[in-house]
Amino acid sequence: MKTLKIAIQKSGRLNEKSVELLKNCGLNFENYKSSLISPVSNFPLEILFLRDDDIPEYVQDGIADLGIVGENVIQETEVIVSYLQKLGFGKCSLKLAVPNNSDIVNLTDLNNRSIATTYPVILGKFLQKNGINADIRTISGSVEISPGLGLSDAICDLVSTGGTLKSNGLKPFGDVMSSEAVLIGRKGIENEILVQELIQRIQSVLRAKE
Ligand code: ATP
Ligand code: ZN
Repeated sequence: MKTLKIAIQKSGRLNEKSVELLKNCGLNFENYKSSLISPVSNFPLEILFLRDDDIPEYVQDGIADLGIVGENVIQETEVIVSYLQKLGFGKCSLKLAVPNNSDIVNLTDLNNRSIATTYPVILGKFLQKNGINADIRTISGSVEISPGLGLSDAICDLVSTGGTLKSNGLKPFGDVMSSEAVLIGRKGIENEILVQELIQRIQSVLRAKE
């Protein structure tokens, strides 16, 4: 039988819950240490441990058959994959935020202003849909410090509790998208028996948690 490959985040916010979910499905494997690939001893599956940003493309291109990643990363990379199952963890929102003392109070105030983000694709579509013409400044991290440095008037960043915004003197003022971890698959992979078996196991783990 063909061995499936599933890509999960090797370290970071989704790693622990992804490993826990697969273990709760009865899969036996070694956790990521230094090897990129871990075979599952009791199911024809291999686990690939990757950076989350690489997962959507690996799945689209068929290097992995399946992947667990945040919806935000899938939307940003604009890949064509099958959404197989929402997983109920890694919940967060992509929000716009401005300094507490900002004169920006509604969306139209963003016209001709600058917004720093690591999500230029999602933000660009959102602004276009709302008819806003703002300058998107793409940066690779620490978005929340950019207004304080004078780099942007606003930010668009992932928020879960809001603590990071608050400690940087920022307030949220609009939701761009909400996100959670999802199981994705290469287009058409959902027809394979092994994938259906795995999805069923995942669904019963999720049901048991309700
Ligand atoms: P990697 O090293 O794999 O590239 P990363 O630093 O890009 O990791 P993490 O910060 O580990 O990513 O976040 C992974 C995912 O967790 C996010 O893409 C998002 O879907 C989800 N997430 C949940 N809550 C938050 C949050 N408060 N901030 C950022 N991401 C969050
Ligand atoms: Zn990442």
